[in-house]
Amino acid sequence: MTTMFGLTLAGRDVLFVGGGSVAARRLPRLIEEGAAIRIVAPALSAETSALVERHGLAWIRRGVRERDLEGAWLVHTATGSARVDADVAAWCERARVFCVNASDGAHGSARLTAETRSGDVVVAVSSDAGVDPRRAARVRNAIAGLLERGALPVRRVRDTARGRVALVGGGPGPVDLMTVRARRLLAEADVVIADRLGAVDVLRELDPDVEVIDVGKQPGLHPVPQHEINALIVAHARAGRRVVRLKGGDPFVFGRGGEEVTACLEAGVAVEVVPAPTSAVAVPQAAGIPVTQRGVSGAMHVVNGQAELGSGTLAALADDTVTTVVLMGVAALERIVAGALAAGAPGSRPVAIVESGHAPQQRTTRTTLADAVAHARAAGVRNPAVIVIGEVARPDLLLPVPAPEHAAAG
Ligand code: SAH
Repeated sequence: MTTMFGLTLAGRDVLFVGGGSVAARRLPRLIEEGAAIRIVAPALSAETSALVERHGLAWIRRGVRERDLEGAWLVHTATGSARVDADVAAWCERARVFCVNASDGAHGSARLTAETRSGDVVVAVSSDAGVDPRRAARVRNAIAGLLERGALPVRRVRDTARGRVALVGGGPGPVDLMTVRARRLLAEADVVIADRLGAVDVLRELDPDVEVIDVGKQPGLHPVPQHEINALIVAHARAGRRVVRLKGGDPFVFGRGGEEVTACLEAGVAVEVVPAPTSAVAVPQAAGIPVTQRGVSGAMHVVNGQAELGSGTLAALADDTVTTVVLMGVAALERIVAGALAAGAPGSRPVAIVESGHAPQQRTTRTTLADAVAHARAAGVRNPAVIVIGEVARPDLLLPVPAPEHAAAG
């Protein structure tokens, strides 16, 4: 039988007997924890020697003696000789010091577990009967996978840690386009402050007692002003909560993520940012449009349609080797088209308007600068939509439509 304990070895004397490959494999864990490590071995393998040098570990260069155990809280023996390891284990038994014996088939009075960490959760796997490191590692890996993607209930029940904020990009909509890091942070969150766009379906998977605050901008309804969102984020974090600010697409692309980071830093609140596919790239992609394509478009210009068209945007629109991607541009389409034509872009320049990218109701309107306004009106194009202006928006870009005579011959 084994009982697992969470031991804290930081600052405690741990003796490693043997300096071979087993020591090299296992030392990093104890080094990371800050154990006061001594190694006793006549020689070291190259890896162990590197660790000794890098971390300034104490190395006693000779065979082990019983007196070496003095002061140790824990001994790890892996000498390559079952007899020496058994001697060390027996000395430990006498001295009442726990001993990990790495010899094949040996058990020792302590054993290392297969561990995984996710945030502040530590899971250790061991075996009650014989040692079976590969099985332990497999079970550990499976649990690590679940932890990593937020599939286990890791949300804190007791307030033991400080509040913090994660600005999490949710991507263009589908939950399976979120990163595993985003999923894990959501699983840890006490409060989620969400927008209307993005991976909103993920909110349904949260525990019922996770507070969800919707600050999304619905056209026509009053949005929560940005300074109030900032204040809300900071207040919850200061109250000791783990806050996820869930945003559509990427937090740093027209998402005001930078302002929210500043608000947290000014308030002394820990903040991290999790990137995600931005709709500027992922929505055209959903319609089969690569934003760059060798020989067609060598640059992309991403612009907020609600802003005035600056000289950089006009230059991009005029350049047939640049893809211009317009977010928040539906209401401004007429102004943008007029600006592009005035800047010298030909009326034949392809335009694609992709509505609700990655959603079941996704729709693409293919047109040209000359016809874009009329076609968008006729189609009743609505938000959210991404407008792509440039040669990559040609309907036949990836699969050229065959010329009629070739089609007939085929
Ligand atoms: N941070 C976000 C952009 C926020 S601005 C990102 O990186 O994607 C909001 C604009 O994004 C919308 O007006 C629209 O132009 C675009 N958008 C976001 N999701 C979209 C979707 N699923 N389909 C089409 N456009 C989308």
